[in-house]
Formats: sequence, structure tokens, C-alpha cells
Amino acid sequence: MLAKGLVERIGLSGAMLTHETFDKSTVKMSGEILDHRIAIEYVLTILLSPRHGVLKSRKEIDAVGHRVVHGGEAFSGSVLISDEVIREMTKCIDFAPLHNPPNLKGIAAAKALLPDIPQVGVFDTAFHQTIPPHAYIYGLPYVLYKRYGIRRYGFHGTSHRYVTQRVSEILKKDPGTIKIITCHLGNGSSIAAVKNGKSIDTSMGFTPLEGLLMGTRTGDMDPAIILHIMGKEELTASEMNTMLNKHSGILGVSGISSDMREIEELYHSNERARLAMDIFTFRIKKYIGAYAAAMGGVDAIVFTAGIGENSDMVREMVCKNMEFLGIQLDEKKNQETRKTEAEITRSGSPVKVFVIPTNEELVIAMDTARIVAQLQAQPA
Ligand code: ADP
Repeated sequence: MLAKGLVERIGLSGAMLTHETFDKSTVKMSGEILDHRIAIEYVLTILLSPRHGVLKSRKEIDAVGHRVVHGGEAFSGSVLISDEVIREMTKCIDFAPLHNPPNLKGIAAAKALLPDIPQVGVFDTAFHQTIPPHAYIYGLPYVLYKRYGIRRYGFHGTSHRYVTQRVSEILKKDPGTIKIITCHLGNGSSIAAVKNGKSIDTSMGFTPLEGLLMGTRTGDMDPAIILHIMGKEELTASEMNTMLNKHSGILGVSGISSDMREIEELYHSNERARLAMDIFTFRIKKYIGAYAAAMGGVDAIVFTAGIGENSDMVREMVCKNMEFLGIQLDEKKNQETRKTEAEITRSGSPVKVFVIPTNEELVIAMDTARIVAQLQAQPA
């Protein structure tokens, strides 16, 4: 990796570009960044800057890879972005109204600024397209699936795919022969059951609201509660949506913060922080049990993302009293592991538990390189 960066608050006051090079020197630029095209112009300018840049000319850029949140049922893998692909992505706006429009803007900006350079789309939903109908159809009238595409899609697919691949490499096993449960625990959290290299179920559903307790999202609950609260509190659909997505989860239960670090610190002194943590870890435990049953066993469990990579407390609470399932946690190794790749179970543990820092950018870069290489191999 030559450099990594971030553009925040596009179109808002306090917009900021952060650029970090491989030698860890960081440059921050603040200013007016009115839209995505200007944002990408800034990115190109800094990548090419004689002082802070890592490229000498635009010609060094062979392709651009884009992370796209929702690919619906149209994409089960990464693709070269054509007009047809953009049409399909546009159709998915309904499913991800907050995410797909900026993704499309980013693609349009990159196309305008780097014409003739291949652009590749990597979809967060793609890895979960192998989930079978009995795991993706909800118990609603079937016609709603046909009419509106109401089904489980799942998210964080790029991360679940990356850690699946890494576990197979670490275990020196063909991914087609092992059963893995991958726990992506960040502000948004999801778990996936990956059997023989394929996702067969995941906790997020039609939207990222389902499943685990998250920073500010409810996760699983009785859907009748929504109607009940809307009636009692006289809330509109949009207000209810905000409550479910922004005011619930760890923040809503604790009343303190959505940030796991604060919850951990207050675990022993604050009852509601303790409750939020207990709900969070209890649900992960339940999903692990469910997915082990769904796959007929489990060989390895992975923790990744902000909480999974850093919080030995969460990992211990999840893995405690799971010897019946074959998990023998090594408490010392667990406590010592932070943001690095490591096994945290005792040697000989029937089920191996790993911490693996996720790397979605690497997957996007590698998929992009693969697709561009195929393109170059084709006769013109
Ligand atoms: P996102 O889902 O936005 O990509 P991240 O994967 O960065 O989020 O995860 C953010 C979460 O990780 C926050 O809840 C944060 O508190 C938690 N986290 C980060 N560092 C630590 C740490 N050292 N200990 C516990 N939790 C941490």
C-alpha cells in the first residue's frame, strides 16, 4: 500500500481530506468540498503532489475499485462497471437510499476525472448471494419477495470474505473444506456462517438493521413492537426509522454511548453499560450456537473490525463457557491480542478462534486487479 486516505463531510462545513502515506506521515486538508467530484479531484491532487504524493503521473493509475453497498440479486461478485451495471445499481437505490446514491456519485466523478480507466464495483452484498432460499426468505407472503425483492441480502460481505480467505490460509486448508463463523463487530456488526467457502447465512437482513445489537441499531426484535411504539408515541414512519437506526442499540440501552470503549470502562460501575454489554455479547453467543447447528459443526471462529480486533473483554464474554462446543479460550493470548492476527484458543482446542484485522480495501484492490487483468487478456 502506497497511501490511504479519507474525505469526510462532503457538502458540509468542516469538510476534510486526510492522506496518509506508507511511512505514516499524515496530511490533513480542510476546505470547501462541495461534492464527490471535487472530493476525488482533491484525492488525485494529493496523490500526485510533489511533496506528499505517491504517484508521478495520472498514467500510473490503471484502474479504480469502488465499494458499493447494495448489489441486490444482480451481483454475486465484483464486476467491471458498465452502463448496464450502473442501471442495476440505480435500481438498488430503493434498498439502500443512504448508501447507493453516494456510491454512484463517486463512480461518476471517477469516470469523469479518469476517463478510459476501468472502474470496478465490489458489492457488500455479493458474498452473501450464495445463501439458500430457506435462509433468505422471510415468513411474509411470498409475493412480497417477488414484488419488492423483500429478502435477506446481508452486508459486510467484503470483510467476511477477506477473513474467510485468511483463516483458510492460516489453517493451510482449502476454504472449500471448512466451516467458519465470522464475526464482524464494529459500529455496525454482523455474523456469517461460511460453509465450504460459501456464506450460507448471515445476521443482517433486508437492511443492516437486523441481527446483533449494534452501536445505534436495535438488531433482532419482535416486529410488532414497532407498530405498538408508533401508536403509543404517535411517531411517523420516518421518526420510527430514526429511532431504530440511530437511537437504539448500545447507545439506546446504555443511555451513555455507542462507543464500546466507554461501555467497557463503565462495565463494573454502571448498570446500564453492563446491560448493553451483556445483551451485545449474549446475542453473539446465540448466533454462534445457531450457526454451528446450521453448518453441522464449526472449525474456526473469527473476530474482526473495531470491536472484534480490539476488545478482549467482548471476545472473552462470547467465548466463555463454550467448551461444550469445542472452544477452549486461552485467556492470556486473548488479553494480549489487539489489532493483530492471532489465534486466541489453546493449542489443541477443537474449535480454533482467531482475531484477524479486516482489510476490505485489499479485497477491492485485488478484485479490481483481477478483473482488469482479464480485460487486458481479452483480444481487442
Ligand atoms: P465501522 O463499523 O464504523 O467501520 P469500526 O470497525 O471502526 O466501525 O468499529 C468501531 C467500534 O470499535 C466502536 O464501537 C469502538 O468503540 C470500537 N473500538 C475501537 N477500538 C477499541 C478498543 N480498543 N476497545 C474496545 N472497542 C474498541
